[in-house]
Amino acid sequence: MPETKNAAGKGYWGKILHVDLTTGSVSPEFLDDSFYQKYLGGIGIAAKVLWDRLKPGIDPLGPENILGFTTGLLTDTGSLFTGRFTVVGKSPASGGWGDANCGGYFSPALKRCGVDAVFFSGKSLKPVYLYLDHEKAELKDASDLRGLDTIETEDLLRERHGKRAQVACIGPAGEKRSLLAGISTDRGRLAARCGLGAVMGSKNLKAVVAAGTQRVGVMDKAAIREISSAFRKRLDKGAFFERFLGDRLFAIVGRMTRPGFFYMRQPALLWRKMLKKFGTPSLTVLSAEGGDSPIKNWGGVGYRDFPLERSENIGAETVIRFEEKKYGCYSCPLRCGGIVSIKQGPHIIEEMHKPEYETLCAFGSLLLNDDLLSICRINDLVNRAGMDSISCGATVAFAIECYESGILSKVDTDGLDLRWGNSDAITGLVEKILRREGLGDILADGVKRAAEKIGRGSEKFAVHCGGVEAPMHDPKFDPGFLISYFCEPTPGRHTISSYQYLDLQELHKKFSRARKTAAVTSRKKRFNPKDKGEMLAVDSFYKMLVDCAGACFFGTQVGAELPLCEWMNAATGWNLPPDAYLVAAERVHKLRHSFNVREGLNPIRDFRPHPRLYGDPPQDKGPARKVTIDIDTLAESYYKAMHWELQTGKPHRKRLEELGLPDVLQEFYPPDAQ
Ligand code: SF4
Repeated sequence: MPETKNAAGKGYWGKILHVDLTTGSVSPEFLDDSFYQKYLGGIGIAAKVLWDRLKPGIDPLGPENILGFTTGLLTDTGSLFTGRFTVVGKSPASGGWGDANCGGYFSPALKRCGVDAVFFSGKSLKPVYLYLDHEKAELKDASDLRGLDTIETEDLLRERHGKRAQVACIGPAGEKRSLLAGISTDRGRLAARCGLGAVMGSKNLKAVVAAGTQRVGVMDKAAIREISSAFRKRLDKGAFFERFLGDRLFAIVGRMTRPGFFYMRQPALLWRKMLKKFGTPSLTVLSAEGGDSPIKNWGGVGYRDFPLERSENIGAETVIRFEEKKYGCYSCPLRCGGIVSIKQGPHIIEEMHKPEYETLCAFGSLLLNDDLLSICRINDLVNRAGMDSISCGATVAFAIECYESGILSKVDTDGLDLRWGNSDAITGLVEKILRREGLGDILADGVKRAAEKIGRGSEKFAVHCGGVEAPMHDPKFDPGFLISYFCEPTPGRHTISSYQYLDLQELHKKFSRARKTAAVTSRKKRFNPKDKGEMLAVDSFYKMLVDCAGACFFGTQVGAELPLCEWMNAATGWNLPPDAYLVAAERVHKLRHSFNVREGLNPIRDFRPHPRLYGDPPQDKGPARKVTIDIDTLAESYYKAMHWELQTGKPHRKRLEELGLPDVLQEFYPPDAQ
């Protein structure tokens, strides 16, 4: 590998690596300042690389696919909440653009190798891993790692390369090319969605080991320090509040947020303290009571089918009893994570990351399962296998509903009595999915593929958006989620845009385009789809900015005005106004969306979500009683704000010109077609 040049010293290295796994070659590519001004970093680099280098129509699990690991523009610059990496590639789950991100400590370690991103193409004949530090990048034999779980893999590679080495790897799920497979780091934290673990497995790439020690330069270190310190002070306010928090209070707050009651604006201070004290499990009771959690494979009602006396059993206070120590990602001042230890029950677990809300809901409320120990056991199993817990839980929910309705029998399940809430059968089915055994083999590629194989009307229970299982937030509670579930280039994504996020992020204080957007303060406004496109578009672009920076989404919601643009200006010296950053973020979004359109995908047609997600037919009871979201009007409003053609999904020529995307213009509006 040629000598690293810290040419820019502006928060980025100006260098990415391309690793051809077929030939074993590693070659650098150098990017200039104008590239970063245009695409910023992280997912922005990836959007440009994949657009340029991936041919449409390729097999996501074939050697032509490219798998990229990108660090954020702000990662390791002294800014806070900015330690996330993003994995990218063509998704085998949706057939379109795929990305997934994760916190922990891998991203700064990769950046300390003197590169901003690494992209893998081709396929190795035997299992390999990439070792890199700031001096070299080498492919090494991984035959002895084959079949090891994510934690065993990471421990062994650390033993081999030193404790400072950070590892991103796949477990057996990725090796078996399950479309539910993700990529693990920090002993069981997953970049989970879109099936990118299967892409890594298809390339025979077991792991990436980053052991760099070189820190990237920035233009104004003192300014970054000052901005970080002021932000930290704002964040620390309101500590007294924490002591009053608990599941009973969350139940009351949940009831107050029910759509049929009144709309409560999301208080950022409360969310900040919930995250700090309990992490995301604090949402379990609140969301079950309020109507945010899907219940019984999206067909149930929280307070009727999974009432407080049950949701409390998997609630924050119950989870926290097992917490041994708190955990935070790199540069995080909040530390929402925790390490738990299970010393009772049939399965002793020495140490694992505590189950997050999404996992508690996917294996809890969604399956009517309030046995926390079984959920912890499953959490450990899927983390070790390297499998997306949201998709796995949603797939089990599908199987249970098929079983309860007679489509599947005990013969199909190898004797498992797959009833709602039967935690032993649920655990047994998860084990089968992880082994790809019997029915588990059919389910290991998610609900869409499983329904195609099972047939017999099972597709009506397959709740997904464009091949990706729906996450654990009900759009009938917050219709903003619906757009992100099917119009986002990665369908089924809950961390992009919603009305709650808009409330929490207060974007109108940052961007002039957001000043025009209306707040969603009443039930009437909440379910009126007509004027929501613009605000959700701005929210989608903001999330791109967050991902380009390598920032944690929670950092944007905790009420202290995350100073992303200020940090970026201090790191790069660009001194751009916030609106210019939002335009760059829109450019990145347009590229990802254009990637899908080039693949022949139009979200309104191809990623249309399961009708249960928008209340067709409406539920007869509960917070979402009689709620049917006008999905087409909502989508039309969003398409308009996004400058996309409704019929084809193509971005408008004028907007592509304004954003400076000549390659995309050439693709969709070739001169000879005029
Ligand atoms: S808030 Fe939680 S997920 Fe976000 S950076 Fe901190 S510890 Fe990581």
